[in-house]
Order: sequence, then structure tokens, then C-alpha cells
Amino acid sequence: MTISQAVGNVCIASALNTKKQETANSIKSEVIYLPGTDCAIKSQASLSAFTSYRVGGAAQWYVAPRNLEALQASLNYAKEHDLIVTILGAGSNLLVSDRGIPGLVIVTRHLRHSYFDSETGQLTVASGESIPSLAWQVAELGWQGLEWAVGIPGTVGGAVVMNAGAHKSCIADMLVSAQVLSPDGTVGTFTPKQLGYSYRTSLLQGGDRIVTQATLQLEPGADPAQVVALTKQHKKHRLNTQPYNFPSCGSVFRNPKPYTAGWLIEQTGLKGYQIGGAQVAQLHANFIVNRGGAKASDIFCLIRHIQQQVQERWSIWLEPEVKMIGEF
Ligand SMILES: Cc1cc2nc3c(=O)[nH]c(=O)nc-3n(C[C@H](O)[C@H](O)[C@H](O)COP(=O)(O)OP(=O)(O)OC[C@H]3O[C@@H](n4cnc5c(N)ncnc54)[C@H](O)[C@@H]3O)c2cc1C
Repeated sequence: MTISQAVGNVCIASALNTKKQETANSIKSEVIYLPGTDCAIKSQASLSAFTSYRVGGAAQWYVAPRNLEALQASLNYAKEHDLIVTILGAGSNLLVSDRGIPGLVIVTRHLRHSYFDSETGQLTVASGESIPSLAWQVAELGWQGLEWAVGIPGTVGGAVVMNAGAHKSCIADMLVSAQVLSPDGTVGTFTPKQLGYSYRTSLLQGGDRIVTQATLQLEPGADPAQVVALTKQHKKHRLNTQPYNFPSCGSVFRNPKPYTAGWLIEQTGLKGYQIGGAQVAQLHANFIVNRGGAKASDIFCLIRHIQQQVQERWSIWLEPEVKMIGEF
């Protein structure tokens, strides 16, 4: 299939999707309370506000549990009703289809608690805690180790699953253990070795286990002013080199060593290339930004176009880092 055909096909599909979406949106939303909890499951909940791209259709069913019991009750509900489960953290590494997601979408961002142990320097945090706000909190305490993470707008759970990293550090370097809920309802604790980490991957990806909590090893006792200064420096560097002014998912493609994806895309002449509202960022070619009104299908078409063009020029097929969810 040629690129133009691929792009054409998806764009026709996109028009059909919009119709389907309108129909979906006109369906009245239903709310069901999970037995024994104050946790509500909603039908036909739009997901665009829950992804950093600000695109995507509705979840057939949506729930945002606030504790482990409500999370377990959500899983039981899915099992009883034979629903596929999809986990969303901050949605900062996701492309959700315009057609939405069938089954139950569990959003973890309300799973919140944190415990700072100043004796051991260990930070135990729930999976819904925000990585950048933790980076600022520990910096202000004079704890070193999370300065690199300040520009990563995800949750702890997403970082543990993706092995999020920047500035030559990554979550696997400091993870002591992760608490994980299995589909059968059992909770286990796993070491980084058991989670099989490498560059932006872990054995948790593509599986059906849910990270509920993580313990990170940090280094307390430094001068807070110095840790805050380094954290600010990292933030400033990112604001100068990456397009934080438009919705995106960060780097779209994994870096195919020895090249970087951004360099290959730039050398292929694709900076600024646009399909619908989706554009290859001028500031950093491995970012696709939503310039306003983009559909998930625009972003998907652009991803395919980049892959095809880079393949033709360099004989390298770029592998997406972004996770695509739903039908495209
Ligand atoms: C502006 C910008 C800059 C970025 N910069 C970086 C960067 O420098 N380095 C980097 O590594 N990433 C970067 N990212 C990408 C993204 O922030 C990270 O991949 C982040 O770790 C994703 O976390 P999340 O909570 O948003 O996960 P989501 O995007 O919600 O989910 C990602 C995957 O993890 C799964 N998941 C999420 N939470 C859980 C859980 N609790 N249990 C089981 N599965 C779960 C999801 O199902 C999905 O498959 C950037 C993104 C943006 C928008």
C-alpha cells in the first residue's frame, strides 16, 4: 500500500468515525455505583480530556477508583460483565482512537498517597501520583534522584510500565519494588529484575497487570536549593528544546540506535509536515503536536507517513513509543 492510499483510507475512515462518534455521543450516559464503594462507573465517557494529545473517542465504560478496594471492585465488575480492561495513567503516552475504547477504561490518577522515609531515603507512592509534582516535592526536601523526571507529565504507574526516562536516567535505575495487582485480584511485589527493564520497556507493557504502588530509592540530605536549581535547569532545558506549548505525547518513536528518531525525521525533511490538525513539531521532529482540532486519525496518518518516508530514505522502520489504543 502506498502512503497516499494509506492516508486516504484512514481519512475516509475518519469521516465515518466522526458519524459513529456523533451517534455515540447522543447515547445517554449511564452511571452505576460499584457495590460496597462510592465509586461510579460511567458509560460513554469522552476520553479526550484524559490524554495529553487531547484527542480520542469515548470509553464504553469509565471508572476512576480512589483506593485499592475500589480498583478491585472495578476489576470484578469487568470480569462479571466480560469487559476488556484498559488502564490509563495521565494518558501522556497514548493515542486513543476516535472510535473510542470498548470495555472498561480504568483511570488511575485518583489513586494517591505518598510516604517519604527520611531514614532510608525511600519514597513509597501510589500509582496515580504525578511524576513532575513528586520531582518538585523531593527537590524541596533536598532529596536527590528525581531531578530528571520534572518534564515527564505522567503518573508513577505509567512511568513504571514505560520505564520513563530522561537526561540519562530512568525509573528502573531507582525502583526498589512495584506493587502489582493481577487480574485474579492478587497483589504481588516485584523487583526491577523481575520486571525485565530495558530502554522504555518492561514486562508490564501489553499485559493485564496493574501497578498500584512503587517504592523509589532517593538520596536525602542535600541542600534543597541545589536540588531545586538542578530540577529547574532540567525543566528549562526541556521548555527550550521541546514543544510544550501544544498538546503532544512527547517522543512518538523509539530511538533506533545509533540514530535518534528526531534526527532521522528532520533529515527526511518532515519538520512542519502536517496532516489535518497534526504536525511534526518545528522545535523537535520526534514530537507530533496537535495544532488545534486534530483527530486521532490525523496523528495516526502522520505516524504512518513518517514511518514510510524514513523507511524509503534510510531503510529504517521507526517503532512507535506511543501506545495506540482502540481501532485505527
Ligand atoms: C510533553 C511530553 C514530554 C514527555 N517526555 C518524556 C520523556 O522525557 N521521557 C519519557 O520516558 N516519556 C516522556 N513522555 C511520555 C510519557 O509522559 C511517559 O511515557 C509516561 O511515563 C507515561 O505515563 P502516563 O501515566 O501518562 O501513562 P499513560 O500514557 O496513561 O499509559 C502508558 C502505558 O502504560 C499503561 N499504564 C499506565 N498506568 C498503568 C498502571 N498503573 N498499571 C498498568 N499499566 C499502566 C497504559 O495502559 C499504557 O499502556 C512525555 C510526554 C509528553 C506529553
